[in-house]
Amino acid sequence: MDIQDKLDILSRDAQYDLSCACGTKNPSEHRKRNSTGSGWLYPTTTASGGPGIMLKTLLGNRCSNDCKYCPLRENQDFRPIALGPKEMASFFYEFQSKRSLIGLFLSSAVLGTPDKTMELLVETAKILRNYYHYKGYIHLKVIPGASKASIDAALRYASALSLNIETPGVEHFSKLTDRKDYVQDILEPLRYIAYQTMKGSRYQRVHTSSQFIVGASDEVDKEILLYTSQMYKELHMGRLYFSAYQQGLGDSRIPGELIKYQNQQLGLFDDLPLPQEQQPVLTREHRLYQADWLLRQYGFKFDEFLFSDQGNLSLTDDPKLVWAKANPQFYPLSIKRSSKQELLRVPGLGPTYVNRIIKTRRETSISCLEDLRLPFSTLQRARPFLTM
Ligand code: SF4
Repeated sequence: MDIQDKLDILSRDAQYDLSCACGTKNPSEHRKRNSTGSGWLYPTTTASGGPGIMLKTLLGNRCSNDCKYCPLRENQDFRPIALGPKEMASFFYEFQSKRSLIGLFLSSAVLGTPDKTMELLVETAKILRNYYHYKGYIHLKVIPGASKASIDAALRYASALSLNIETPGVEHFSKLTDRKDYVQDILEPLRYIAYQTMKGSRYQRVHTSSQFIVGASDEVDKEILLYTSQMYKELHMGRLYFSAYQQGLGDSRIPGELIKYQNQQLGLFDDLPLPQEQQPVLTREHRLYQADWLLRQYGFKFDEFLFSDQGNLSLTDDPKLVWAKANPQFYPLSIKRSSKQELLRVPGLGPTYVNRIIKTRRETSISCLEDLRLPFSTLQRARPFLTM
């Protein structure tokens, strides 16, 4: 196998490890890879919110852990593939010099031990920085159970680090793995990363993120969002991601091959519609992303979200509309006098349109809602909540 064949398989195996991209418009949008011809390239969202393309892959795919939801877990019958740090670094450097990539997202299955795997990931980043003098973006996944020393080494070379929390709490976690310890292998390293990257620290430039897997255990949205809000506050996370558990992938025997097949079935590479049974968990994932935006960009607090009796967000309405319907006394809001924070509570209006409204009303006289020059569909959504 040459390096491109290996990358084809390793990057397919890496595709469910999001933590670097987000799509809130279409539930399955962020799973689509672009059509640039190379399977290991992924569209992603940059820190400033713009689009970019990243090379995303694993260093190796044969894992020594036992996560029940993961096709890479131990004792699976597939051919193990791995790339060495030199091989990976030289390929990436050559490739990025010819293409317009924003960086490298490098992860791995656990190859032996967490620290041995971290050593390989860090070595790749080190070669890129020191040998090739690459100054671009390098995102390294921290392996569960990584030591403080290996995290320190990663911090020296990475632009971003992520470690997946997977579930909101130890109880759900223990249903998915017998091998990993939630506190020692996940929470402790996350706390250490938070400490090393907090404001004023040596590595404050390093962006941090984590990811929940949605629907693999019996966790509910309320638990996920409680953890989400606490992780933003206490662990200073830059971003949190939510990945819908794809039924059947945990049973994969040939991960890259099977994922390719399933993607075709799911319409993620083709334009086929998603099958019905995948819709609820993808919609759940989409609602969690919307709630996450409300926490980060709209000034919402965790205790303002409304959940079903089971503890889940509505699948039919977005969380802001649910809040608006439950708080009719808050509306209608005056388009001329309401504050930015108030206008952000109007369904359909995001920061961009709210800023536009504030600029428009400062510079011109508004006599009707049409003077705001909002897109027709946005205005139709917002109209019931606004007044002159
Ligand atoms: S540690 Fe990661 S790669 Fe290994 S089985 Fe668990 S989820 Fe899969």
